This record gives sequence, structure tokens and C-alpha cells, in this order.
Amino acid sequence: MNAPDSIKPPNKPAPLYAKRTAVFPKKTDGPFRRFKWAVMAVCLIIYWGTPWLRWDRGPFAPHQAVLVDLEHRRFYMFAIEIWPQEFYFVAGMLIMAGIGLFLVTSAVGRAWCGYACPQTVWTDLYQHVDRLIDGDRNAQTRLQNAPWGAAKTMQRLFKWTVYLGIAFCTGGAWIFYFADAPTLQRQFWTGTAAPVAYAATGILTFTTFWLGGFMREQVCIYMCPWPRIQTAMLDENSLTVTYKHWRGEPRGSLKEAKGAATPLGDCIDCHQCVAVCPTGIDIREGAQIGCITCALCIDACDKAMDSVGRPRGLIDYCTLIDADLEASGKPARPALKVLFRPRTIAYFAIWGGIGAALLFMLGARERLTISVARERNPEFVQLSGGAVRNAFTVNLRNMQDRPRALRITAENMRGAALYSDEMASGAAQRELAVTVPADSMRRVRLYVVVPAEQARPHAFTFVAQPTDSVGGAVRRETQFMAPEPEHHDDKHEESE
Ligand code: SF4
Ligand code: SF4
Repeated sequence: MNAPDSIKPPNKPAPLYAKRTAVFPKKTDGPFRRFKWAVMAVCLIIYWGTPWLRWDRGPFAPHQAVLVDLEHRRFYMFAIEIWPQEFYFVAGMLIMAGIGLFLVTSAVGRAWCGYACPQTVWTDLYQHVDRLIDGDRNAQTRLQNAPWGAAKTMQRLFKWTVYLGIAFCTGGAWIFYFADAPTLQRQFWTGTAAPVAYAATGILTFTTFWLGGFMREQVCIYMCPWPRIQTAMLDENSLTVTYKHWRGEPRGSLKEAKGAATPLGDCIDCHQCVAVCPTGIDIREGAQIGCITCALCIDACDKAMDSVGRPRGLIDYCTLIDADLEASGKPARPALKVLFRPRTIAYFAIWGGIGAALLFMLGARERLTISVARERNPEFVQLSGGAVRNAFTVNLRNMQDRPRALRITAENMRGAALYSDEMASGAAQRELAVTVPADSMRRVRLYVVVPAEQARPHAFTFVAQPTDSVGGAVRRETQFMAPEPEHHDDKHEESE
């Protein structure tokens, strides 16, 4: 039986992938363009400059202000030093960054995408290189459509070399966050840096070159998950770049407007908003995932409006609620009312709460810690005179930038004597002196010997008391193991 035409599969399925249409955004100028330049400059200066900032941490720690020291498993950020067991601080900062993005998105839409995202910054930089080498939009289109010849090949090779140079200087600079930057730079150019430094530079140079130079808006539209997440973050109060169709439509050129039977809208259909768009979309078709809210179309449209003597703001930052208000002839709400609303205040409160909690924990954290592991096999050793010995591994962590001299004692342990495996058992004493080097951990294998008459299973506490003026003793309770007293008696009776 033949299927009806309506449910017959099409002869040729629609392609899953659309071929990319190259985007050659036109040069524009205006407040948002200048703001983008400023943000790009600030982002690049921070990115390039940060590894070269110095921070004096004394003779025992590196002097790089921001350093991920993988070799010694430390993260330094100015006065803050994070140890591996304190990774929750880094997790807290990442959570703050995430909530900060939620806050920014719910308040001003995709501002991150439009101004500060590295993909945006790099793409913007490369598009500027295109304009410097190939010329503006029309010249780029002509060159793109021109057949390959010696001149086009040379021009392309030159441009790609510039791309590679930028990729090397930007992507490659990432390695300086992972080692002392001046030293690594010397080693890098003399060929004595670790192979991983060259490999990382190569990978980051290539990804920057490829993503910024060739993939461009496709990263934002198809690869990056953030635009999808943002769709859930935006609401009717979020600022987005909006074409005010109630003002612009019906659109038509000035020539068409002259011959029209009814007055046309403000949009003169000059396509300048499309020409400058770095993702190649037409904002007049409404909000779309390809819009990174860079606001360059606002600059372009304002110029077009100026040229025909119409009010600016045909394309503008606007919320859905304000768009409805304006479309019905009412004034938009004040900007502060839009920005300060329960949702943004709630995000800010969570963000600030986490920040305050992290600061409190940073201020309250101990810079000297002790942990104790009791040896379990055997749990105790009975010495010839009846005394009982337990063995412990004591880890002392000194997170300060100077050595700490400590006195270790066993509290609640009458008659106990301590010695380490670096000492003879005959040298056991009531307290043990240990020095922990700056910014490091010292592991001490330690024996506690208790005379026969005191030996019974019970809890006691190791106390590590700094002998310097700073003080700040740390304690860790553990268990002393010994034969049960009745066993002891039984054994005693048996031997009698
Ligand atoms: S539509 Fe306007 S705001 Fe959106 S990406 Fe294009 S130029 Fe930027
Ligand atoms: S730039 Fe403004 S006037 Fe020109 S087409 Fe775009 S919306 Fe219309």
C-alpha cells in the first residue's frame, strides 16, 4: 500500500549543517564601539600584565603576584596563598564568577559575550586586522570573491602570519601564569624551558589562531553553551539590544518614503546595522541567539538617524516590558528601576554572601595545622619492662612564609615520653622539638612510650606549641592503645 504524499519522506533530507556565509563587518564608530575598544584594552592589559606583577612573600615563597604553582601545588593571588586542601576557596571563587555572570546576564543581558568574552575580544582584534590589511567590508568581499593568484596568496599569507603573531602573543602568554614569568621567558627563548611550556604555547597559539581567525561567530552561535544557558537567565526585565519595530516599520528608503501612499517608519532600510554586525545577523528580525549584544548596530543606526535628522535610539538597549510600554506610547521605566529588582538583588545578595563567607574563612583559617595517623599494625608494642609504646605519623603543615619551631607534647598522658625515628629510644623526653620549614609540611614518625602502671587504652591529645612570639598552638586528639587492665592483671596472675 502506498503512503499518502503528506507522510512520504522527502527524497533528499535537509542538510544538518549550513555552509558558513563569511561575515565582513564594516568599520563603525560611536560610544559603544569606543567602549568596546576600552574593554578590549583593559582585558588585554590585565591578561598580559598580571603574570609580571611582583608580590613580596619573603625568602621562602615565589614573588609572582598571581601564580598557579603546579610543581609545589600552591595557588598564589597577591596576599592569598591557597594550599591543595583549601581548594574550596578556588571553588568558592568559581561559584562567585558563575553567579556574577548570572547577575550580569539578568541585569544587562549578554554583556559578557558582547564585551569581555575572550572569543569576542580575539575575534574583534582579528576583524580589525582584516580591515587594516584587506580594507573595509566591500574590499574584503571583493578579495574573498577574487580568484586565487599571486597577489591574493601573498596578502592572505601576510594576514595569516599576523594572525599567528597575535595568537602566539595572546594564547601563548597563558603559560606565564604557571611559572615565574621572567625566568620562564628567558628559558623559553633559550630553549631550556620544560617541553610542556612549548606544547602548551603551541596548542594555545593554534586554538587562538583557529577560533579567532577562522571560526569566529560560529563559536558563539554553534559551539559555546553559554548562549543556551543565558536564554534561561534572561527575563522580560533583562536589557537586550532591541530594534524598535513600532517606530521603524514599515521600513523603506528615503526614495521609497517619498512615493509612499502612507508615511513610512523611521527605518530607512540602509542595512548599516547588518553591515557592522560581527555575527552577520539582522537585528530587525527580532532577538536571536546570534546576537552577542555588542551594540555596534546601535552606533551604526544612531549615525543613520543623525544623517536623516531623526531621533537616535531606533535600535537601543531595552527590556521586553519597556518595549511593550513604548510600543503602546507610554514612557520606558527609569534605568535604576530596571536594574534594581528582586532577581538582581537576590543574585547580588548570594554573590556578596559567598564573597563575605570566603573572606571570613580566609581571615580565620589556621596557618599551622596538625594531623595524626596512628599505626595500626601492631597497635601497640609491650616493651621488656612492661612499658607500652605506640607509633604515630604526625603531619605538621606550616603555611606561613617563615620556619616555625614547635614543641610537641602529649596532653592527658601521665608519664609519657616521646621520641622520633631520628632519635635513639633512650633519648625519649616529655616533649619533642621540631622545626617545620616555611611554606611546607613536615612528617614526623613519632613514638609515645608509657610506663606499665599508666598504660591503658585512652584518648590523649598531641599539642604542637610554637616557641616563637606568635604562638597559636594546634592540637589533635587521638587514641593510645594498650592491653586492657584486666588482661594485664590476668597475664600478671598467670606469670605468678
Ligand atoms: S545585532 Fe547588533 S548587538 Fe547583536 S551582535 Fe549584531 S551588532 Fe551586535
Ligand atoms: S541602521 Fe537603522 S535605519 Fe538603517 S537599516 Fe538598520 S535599523 Fe534601519
